[in-house]
Amino acid sequence: MNDPTAPSAPSAAPGRRRVLRGALALAGTVALRPSAAATPAAAAPAAAAPTGSAIAVRRFGRYEVLALLDAHGPFPGTRQAAFPDATAADWERARRLDPAAFGPGDTWEPDFRCHAVRRPGGRVTLVDTGIGPVGSPASGWAPVPGRLPAVLARAGISPADVEAVVLTHLHEDHYGWSVTPEGVPVFPNARYLVQRTEVAALGPTRTARTYVVEPLLRAGRLTEVDGRTVLAGPAGPGGAVTLLPTPGHTPGHQSVLVEGGGDRLLVTGDVLVHAVQLVSPAVRYAYEADPATARRSREQLLDDARRTRAVLATAHLNRPFVRPWAVEVATG
Ligand SMILES: [Zn+2]
Repeated sequence: MNDPTAPSAPSAAPGRRRVLRGALALAGTVALRPSAAATPAAAAPAAAAPTGSAIAVRRFGRYEVLALLDAHGPFPGTRQAAFPDATAADWERARRLDPAAFGPGDTWEPDFRCHAVRRPGGRVTLVDTGIGPVGSPASGWAPVPGRLPAVLARAGISPADVEAVVLTHLHEDHYGWSVTPEGVPVFPNARYLVQRTEVAALGPTRTARTYVVEPLLRAGRLTEVDGRTVLAGPAGPGGAVTLLPTPGHTPGHQSVLVEGGGDRLLVTGDVLVHAVQLVSPAVRYAYEADPATARRSREQLLDDARRTRAVLATAHLNRPFVRPWAVEVATG
């Protein structure tokens, strides 16, 4: 997702506003961080009651994929502002698919979800780390605190069990529990994997760089990867976990393909952030870094998922798993 505070910052000068919009969440967070840090709880919208289970599990051969609900709450602004091209028909189809995303009036109420891939022996790859605690960079707009640590404990996963943390991208609602506010890695045995292009696109003062990238580098925990990367495998009866570049939402955005037992699952990250982009993949999200590339990534991922009958595990739909081949899609 992205920082919605940017377009609502009324005092932003034109130059600043352009930076906020063009550079996505991270620049906006820098600008708004002092006030967010001063009153994190007051600045954040109230968390709504989660509509779904905090933990949902699917088995893929030898792998278990757990969808872990960090938080649920209103997204600032209207849903039409977030998805300016969506038509009434798009909204109607999206509402049938994901009614819980539709709050009062014209509001959007996303889930904030992370995913764990548990392999034989209890080793875990965690995909994204949610919005984080009170005072985290997402505090200015997301319903902090997230509950990921408690949800992981309920799932029987201790921080020490996590051997890899995949960050789909460096927006603050995806890295919130990666390090403590003091900069200590939350998962002491994990290497943290992010695309090199994602890190390279960060300016030197971006919050993502100072809050998460630099502490992980100092701790020797950051692994920058280039393009498609097999984490565990090989493919076949034993299954595989593969990182797939899906740029556009951010320059180095990546998704995660899990193959096991002949089945496939895609942890999408923010390739699509609302069901309206599932029923109508041409609909852009207002905060995509490169809308044309984001659309191409979304269409390719959805085409692949439909062709191969892959299940989707998204970060922000109010359903832990979605079968895209069973969804009515608008064309054109
Ligand atoms: Zn997001």
